[in-house]
Amino acid sequence: MVVRRADTLGMCSGVRSALALVDRALRDNPDTPVSTLGPLVHNTAVVAEYRARGVAPVEAPSEIASGILVLRTHGVAPGVRAAFERPGLRVVDATCPNVRRIHNLVTDHESRGFTVVVVGDPAHDEVRGIAGHVRNPMVIATAAEAETADIAMPAFVVGQTTLSREAYEAVCAVVRRRFPGVLIADTTCPSTERRRESLLRLAERVDALVVIGGKTSANTRWLYEAARSTGRPSWLIEGPAELPDGIAGFGSVGITAGASTPDRLVDAVEAALLALAEKPTAAGQ
Ligand code: SF4
Repeated sequence: MVVRRADTLGMCSGVRSALALVDRALRDNPDTPVSTLGPLVHNTAVVAEYRARGVAPVEAPSEIASGILVLRTHGVAPGVRAAFERPGLRVVDATCPNVRRIHNLVTDHESRGFTVVVVGDPAHDEVRGIAGHVRNPMVIATAAEAETADIAMPAFVVGQTTLSREAYEAVCAVVRRRFPGVLIADTTCPSTERRRESLLRLAERVDALVVIGGKTSANTRWLYEAARSTGRPSWLIEGPAELPDGIAGFGSVGITAGASTPDRLVDAVEAALLALAEKPTAAGQ
């Protein structure tokens, strides 16, 4: 079996910067407790690793009195940040620049009289953070919802960064048809897009695909959907222990990883696949 990696895969710049901020906070403040607002990233292994280093996720202001609190890449509404600000607690903002750009766009357009429409999962923290930057946001999750949405014009549309271009466009097409003149921003994350394009190129050169990443990670799930759309047998796994039985039977296996997947997990899965490739098969024993 041959194992091939996608040429672009794994941790994006936004997640790397957030982890670097936490690392720096730990290094520079060895006697200060460091927490994150919610799990730092949607990856169980990364969260467990930081928890072992003393970084505990908190969910509410009542759970933390002092120390350092890191706001993760998804960003938060100003009111959420304000609820944590108090003497003795330093807030470090790790919001990804791609998300911060959307915050700036929506506040600017609302101040100019636009209705702000956010396309995405209303339960996703990034969407809640974006919506929380404006007074009267409208959140639309699907094209079907867009068919019945009552949007006051002028309107300005942004999307969750990890939506696929197709999913975002499916909703925007309906909004554009029903509300001619609506302004629509391109907010799809380029890192996510590059991982997907690289995966599609890889799919042409392999018999099966393995996507490595957190099962609650939106961008990883999207990558997995892209893998399945190629028609190649595909699996979404969080680590080498979840490699499926029978994977060694494929002549070539391609691997890719979501934007919050650490390099060491990608290396571990690759090593496990190579070890399987070297193992004698039942037929060869
Ligand atoms: Fe930022 Fe994109 Fe990474 Fe999300 S996936 S943290 S938007 S670079």
